[in-house]
Amino acid sequence: MLDALLFTKTPSLLSAVYRECLWKVNTKENILYLTFDDGPIPAVTPFVLDQLNRYNAKATFFCIGKNIEANPEIFQRILDEGHSIGNHTQDHLNGWYQDNETYFQNIEKCAALIPQFEIRNPKFFRPPYGKLKPRQYRFLKSSFKIVMWDVLSFDFDLSMSEERVLRNVTENATAGSIVVFHDSIKAKSKVEYALPKTLEYFSAKGFKFEKL
Ligand SMILES: [Zn+2]
Repeated sequence: MLDALLFTKTPSLLSAVYRECLWKVNTKENILYLTFDDGPIPAVTPFVLDQLNRYNAKATFFCIGKNIEANPEIFQRILDEGHSIGNHTQDHLNGWYQDNETYFQNIEKCAALIPQFEIRNPKFFRPPYGKLKPRQYRFLKSSFKIVMWDVLSFDFDLSMSEERVLRNVTENATAGSIVVFHDSIKAKSKVEYALPKTLEYFSAKGFKFEKL
């Protein structure tokens, strides 16, 4: 079963087994792919967008359907400002604990909220908690580009300091890395600390920030 959540830097064995997921972009250029999961919410997402704007950075937002429904104007702002979006289920379900039908219906419900003009090939999906059962993986990879990551900031981890969250990113991200942050209440203080410093640190090293 796919469980990518234990590691700051995803081990190559995991990405080799689930090789049809996108773990990292194959480039030698200094580009980082910042991703933000669990929004959009008023308390964090506008802050994230403001920070990205300051550095002319693009990113990818894996949105929860119920948050899109609750905050359509923030979702629209993500689109208007040229970022990518992906499906993160309607209710942030953990695939390990759902029967496949319930899980897929929940993904469909979220997909229905994503406007047609944004539906692209490949469509992006990221499983909540980085967890998928093998059958879910095999089914979903036929209709979605499943996006995982190679660097996890651990901004959701209440036991981790803000400085450590920043170091998790600065010490592990390299050209083509897909980095996970969260625009969630739990991650708020970590993101407020680590995101501006991440943008500053990698910009000074000549990196650009692009959407998937
Ligand atoms: Zn999530």
